[in-house]
Amino acid sequence: MKLALLGRKLSHSFSKQIHEMVFDILNIKGTYSLCEVKQSELESFMQDIKDGAFDGANVTIPYKSAVLEYIDEISEEAKKIGAVNSIDKSNGKLVGYNTDYSGFGEMLKHNFIDIKGTDFAVLGAGGAAKGLIAYLSDNGAKNVELYSRDPKKVKKAFDDLSYNCGFSIVPYSKLNIKNRVLINATPVGMYPDVEKSPVASIDLEGCVAVVDLIYNPSKTRLMKFAEEQNVQAVNGLYMLVSQAIKAQEIWQRKILSENLTRYIYNTINPKGQNIVLIGMPGCGKSIIGEKLASSLSMPHFDIDSYIINNYGDIAHLFDGGEEAFRALETRATKHAANETNTVISTGGGVVTRKENMTALAENGTIIFIDRPLDHIVDDIDHDTRPLLDGDRRSVEKLYKKRVDLYDKYSHVKVVNDGTLSKVIKQIERVWKGEEL
Ligand code: NAP
Repeated sequence: MKLALLGRKLSHSFSKQIHEMVFDILNIKGTYSLCEVKQSELESFMQDIKDGAFDGANVTIPYKSAVLEYIDEISEEAKKIGAVNSIDKSNGKLVGYNTDYSGFGEMLKHNFIDIKGTDFAVLGAGGAAKGLIAYLSDNGAKNVELYSRDPKKVKKAFDDLSYNCGFSIVPYSKLNIKNRVLINATPVGMYPDVEKSPVASIDLEGCVAVVDLIYNPSKTRLMKFAEEQNVQAVNGLYMLVSQAIKAQEIWQRKILSENLTRYIYNTINPKGQNIVLIGMPGCGKSIIGEKLASSLSMPHFDIDSYIINNYGDIAHLFDGGEEAFRALETRATKHAANETNTVISTGGGVVTRKENMTALAENGTIIFIDRPLDHIVDDIDHDTRPLLDGDRRSVEKLYKKRVDLYDKYSHVKVVNDGTLSKVIKQIERVWKGEEL
């Protein structure tokens, strides 16, 4: 399979690394060439693809719209956005797609950022903003405010989208990010201008989360400002990997596992990767974590043990009220989330605070270990579990209360209904990017 990336300046691109990893993992004989093309050479490059020089291509700045006139067919979302980032050759025809659209959605999903009913503030009215606003509008956002340096000038480009949510274009003088998810779709802060930020730290007070589409540097000045304000901060690396895997699905004509996306993301993420185990008390997180870590030669961080070693016995800590314990647990969880290439076993209630889970997702694959309740009831030591007072009913009640949270805040579910070695093998497959 011969693939290309078409663009103007490509020396900082991560795409070659990502696509070559895909070829390697899936045992595909393929090449991915970086093709820097001048405007005057665009037509002949597109003809070269048609004539068989490549089986498909990605398209980046500044050609995402310019290629439209050489495309024979166009997918629904690419048509809506008016931009193509992936081209497939099918029966001699060039078909254009926009995988940034779903890649953006996958990035929000991976980081547990809800779209339904949420208000968004988007900075920068370029091509990336148009794609992501279409995605937000198609997926239940409540309201989107788009900030531009010149709202009048960019209005026409956004008029042709049909909106299922509130939408307005606003000047920066009216900036209001409180209770909104902020998305930076400007290049401000990108390498080498790493000291720049499109907004000041103080503007982020009360913001729900910050998503910076930039992935180089991996932590932009804007993301550092978000952390200063205790706001979740996400970079654009997951989107980059996800849009690449979506393009591979088109070229290979098959669905690829989300485990593959996560594996590549975790591998190229400079912060490394953690395996995070969540689930009910008694589901086996600690013992599985210990054995998994030993099998993969990784360190093991058990959050409950960390709390006991640093603050004392858990049942005793609960005497001060559950909220006081949860505050300590959050402190310990954020400490654990900062580890790299570590297996992390969490306490059963870690999912009760979203900030725990967004911190753990930043550089970790979160695995829900689901265990039949009968097994939990048989094995559990009720003396050390403050929320379980000794009978099956209390286990069932807690499970009912928590199961939706375990589902919501995990990337993968593994059922622990057999031997520990079976569970560990399944987790190892997830970790290597394989299908379960
Ligand atoms: P773009 O067209 O170059 O810029 C987007 C908009 O940003 C411009 O239209 C402009 O809007 C605003 N802007 C540009 N320079 C600015 C400055 N100095 N100060 C303030 N605002 C400025 O880029 P794009 O293609 O839309 O991409 C935007 C960003 O997303 C880039 O950093 C790109 O690398 C990133 N991106 C990431 C992924 C990913 O997979 N993670 C995918 C696509 C794009 P106004 O003139 O209206 O203010």
